[in-house]
Amino acid sequence: MYVKNTKEILDKANKDYYGVGAFNINNLEFLQAIIEAAVEKMSPVIVETSEGAMSYAGNGDFRRGARVLAGMVMEFAEDAPVPVALHLDHGHDIEHAMAAIQAGYSSVMIDASAKPYEENVKITAEIVRFAHAANTSVEAELGKLVGIEDNVSVSERDATLVDPDEAKNFVERTGVDFLAPAIGTSHGAFKFKGEAKLDFDRLKKVKQITKMPLVLHGASSVLPRYVKEANDYGAKIEGAKGVPYDILKESVKYGINKINTDTDLRVAFLAELRKALHDDASQIDPRKLFKPGMNAIKEVVMERIDVLGSAGKC
Ligand SMILES: [Zn+2]
Repeated sequence: MYVKNTKEILDKANKDYYGVGAFNINNLEFLQAIIEAAVEKMSPVIVETSEGAMSYAGNGDFRRGARVLAGMVMEFAEDAPVPVALHLDHGHDIEHAMAAIQAGYSSVMIDASAKPYEENVKITAEIVRFAHAANTSVEAELGKLVGIEDNVSVSERDATLVDPDEAKNFVERTGVDFLAPAIGTSHGAFKFKGEAKLDFDRLKKVKQITKMPLVLHGASSVLPRYVKEANDYGAKIEGAKGVPYDILKESVKYGINKINTDTDLRVAFLAELRKALHDDASQIDPRKLFKPGMNAIKEVVMERIDVLGSAGKC
């Protein structure tokens, strides 16, 4: 079933302390695989698109792309026996947020975290007004998403990661529905040089103060088996490192309820696509070449649903 307001899914997860996967798509193939996985696990699921995905789907026109993606997601969500929401990941301006809201997205993220604090508050509060009028929920981010190395000083940490007291002020003044606190993850396939390390004390404080659903960005695990397969078939992604499953589980225990995943799906799909292109060199039907990649995405999503604890939570 298509869920018009992501808050419904996340409030339930917040109450019962489990995590819901939010998976990025650009196209039909990723969407089908994600929904199949959620149905097989009877898990709620959040599908998300970036602004770039909107432009891509609309062949340069992000408003059209938002409608194309929303139409696709709603079509597949309608008769699915699990709750499916559609979220705008990292909206940077009011134009993209409005395009998503008007296309029927279930929620939008407004990421003004690079702006000075007061400006972040002002922009976020404005989006919240528009979004709530359309029964759409809003995510915002506090702090900067960068990997934290061991040798970083306390003051550097404080300048980068979320400030729990600021989080309280931010939530009260903006009316935001869920919050992404920066606690040491970063985007992409190269998150950590040494061991993965997140600031759980900070996470616990933010949870205690805000009591709202919290979001983990840069949460891909960068699965070694797919990195290896991709490299075996010609990719060059040596040294890639993500957030291991036990750390994801801990994050959920301390209050993370929405876990964003993009890189893991990309790497799994591309590893299998590279293999298929190699193994079936006479094949000219792209659908046949995509299928192993779609199966890999399904497998990755199902595995993450188990890790996050959302199986059967419909
Ligand atoms: Zn993100």
